Amino acid sequence: MLVDTSIIRRRQSRQVMVGKVAIGGGAPVTVQSMTTTKTADVDGTLAQVYALAAAGADIVRITCDSEDAAVALTHVVPRSPVPIVADIHFQYRLALAALEAGVQKVRLNPGNIRKPEHIKAVASEARDRNVPIRIGVNAGSLDKELLERYGEPTPEALVESARREIDLFNEVGFDDIVISLKASSVPLMVGAYRSMAERVDYPLHLGVTEAGPLPGGLVKSSAGIGALLLEGIGDTIRFSLTADPVEEAKAGKLLLESLGLRERRGLDLIACPSCGRAEVDVISLAEEAQRRLEELGMKFQVAVMGCVVNGPGEARGADLGIAAGKEKGHLFIRGQVVRVVPESEIVDALIEEAERLRDEGFEARLAEADADAAALAERTRAERLAVDVDPNHTSEHAERARDIASGDE
Ligand code: SF4
Repeated sequence: MLVDTSIIRRRQSRQVMVGKVAIGGGAPVTVQSMTTTKTADVDGTLAQVYALAAAGADIVRITCDSEDAAVALTHVVPRSPVPIVADIHFQYRLALAALEAGVQKVRLNPGNIRKPEHIKAVASEARDRNVPIRIGVNAGSLDKELLERYGEPTPEALVESARREIDLFNEVGFDDIVISLKASSVPLMVGAYRSMAERVDYPLHLGVTEAGPLPGGLVKSSAGIGALLLEGIGDTIRFSLTADPVEEAKAGKLLLESLGLRERRGLDLIACPSCGRAEVDVISLAEEAQRRLEELGMKFQVAVMGCVVNGPGEARGADLGIAAGKEKGHLFIRGQVVRVVPESEIVDALIEEAERLRDEGFEARLAEADADAAALAERTRAERLAVDVDPNHTSEHAERARDIASGDE
């Protein structure tokens, strides 16, 4: 069954509680990331958990790969600002230890914990403690028998791996389950999630595993996770990047914001890609504007546009923007040019306007707009459009192109 959420009709899944954070059942899609510290380093791990939470992570996963790690979790979990998931591979006893440590969720890999009695022991303990488990199927560590049967990781093989685990969980009366079917191949993971979404109503945790370093990792993850979210599939997401995990949390948050699945909580700086018309260095201008506006904690949508010809019109939806032209910056608010400043003062003026908008509001600022600014911007725009495109007049092609452009031919 599908339910309406803005333009995305989300698949209706059952709800699972990870501590106080809901996954599925119509709850907002959550962002996850994973620490890279040694878990036994309690202070270092906690510092990273806080950094991830500040960057947008709602839930953080921590490896529980040793006895020391399990003990460390007893110190990390009570001090964490967000629910903690213990990541378990190979040793089911570490899952039991993590549950004892108080984690709010466990991730099991069905590819490397295969004895039914071990799986059921963990599920029983989780059931008694009301703690959910994510069945984390991974194409790279698929159960050997399934790999032999299917010849290679396929959507069907990933789905079957999860289904076997679900059956074992259900045998002990446990169904507080989240499922992930990750692969480094985007088409493979998309196919597997689509198939799973049709078969069960458990919430789905989306990810492209081992997506790699930036920018390829971002592209693959955004393609796979974004495609599924647009289809309404997915209740929680993780970008698996070969980068500082803070980048994963930021990327997850930004993806949800860009799809309209999460309210924007910070600055949204849009900038034109620049082109031959640009009259300033758009890249450095945008970077400086972003840094200074973020330092101020601004939550507007701000546009940095390379020229006055198209800038204000293209960024009409932005709260505040700047468009360059004839060594000047044309400041606009929601598409209306309100002030013109020298090029050297562009960023300072942008910051000043942002502060005024924050303090005085849009209506007051628009009421005080410089009446001459819009006319000046329009004159600059007209002049720019009239500029000769080939001042050297050296080629026949240029002459001919000019004739065509001026309508002489
Ligand atoms: S705003 Fe101007 S400079 Fe930027 S891409 Fe558009 S036309 Fe080019």
